[in-house]
Amino acid sequence: MTFAHLGLDEPLVRALEAKGYTTPTPIQKQSIPTLLEGRDLLGIAQTGTGKTAAFVLPSIQRLTNEGKKVLPTHCRMLVLAPTRELASQIADSARDYGRFSKMSVATVFGGTSINKNRQDMARGVDILVATPGRLLDLIEQRFVSLAMLEILVLDEADQMLDLGFIHALRKIVRMLPKQRQTLFFSATMPNAIRELADQFLKDPATVKV
Ligand code: AMP
Repeated sequence: MTFAHLGLDEPLVRALEAKGYTTPTPIQKQSIPTLLEGRDLLGIAQTGTGKTAAFVLPSIQRLTNEGKKVLPTHCRMLVLAPTRELASQIADSARDYGRFSKMSVATVFGGTSINKNRQDMARGVDILVATPGRLLDLIEQRFVSLAMLEILVLDEADQMLDLGFIHALRKIVRMLPKQRQTLFFSATMPNAIRELADQFLKDPATVKV
């Protein structure tokens, strides 16, 4: 089983080869074909399983195939992460996997200058990776708009709840277009997470590793 067998196109397979990745991990095998079809996904998986590639690779392919041009301040894909460290790791992966697909990537999180975030978002980006609090600040100041969003990913949802981001998350999701693909990843599935997933996802495929 190779990445090409899962339906990934050449620019992504080439980026994976450059990293020396030839065999998909279980979560990648289970998620990539479903995500390429545009379905919502509920993924129960820990860090270290290869989940970042599982959501980044098919998303880049869908964004490429849709081929829409992003407008100033907008993004086409939003990845929400609980911490700065995780957000910057995801952004690094997205740059790596998207290197032959001409994807623009930006990060937005606390502890960096708002002015730099504003400049990064001025022309719009394909993929924005953000922590919820700083993202809301930028939206309120009209430096970021989510009106053109095509794909939403919530990573480490249980961590986000533990860190008190539930209110910010609901606020952000209310601003998104109804027509979108939503991906939800969590290491654990307590009731609060399941309820949130029920509200945010439409007829999701479930993957557990
Ligand atoms: P993650 O669970 O997304 O944090 O990924 C864990 C680590 O596995 C990261 O360093 C990835 O770059 C690496 N990785 C992801 N997919 C593969 C793969 N198919 N083969 C080998 N390493 C991988």
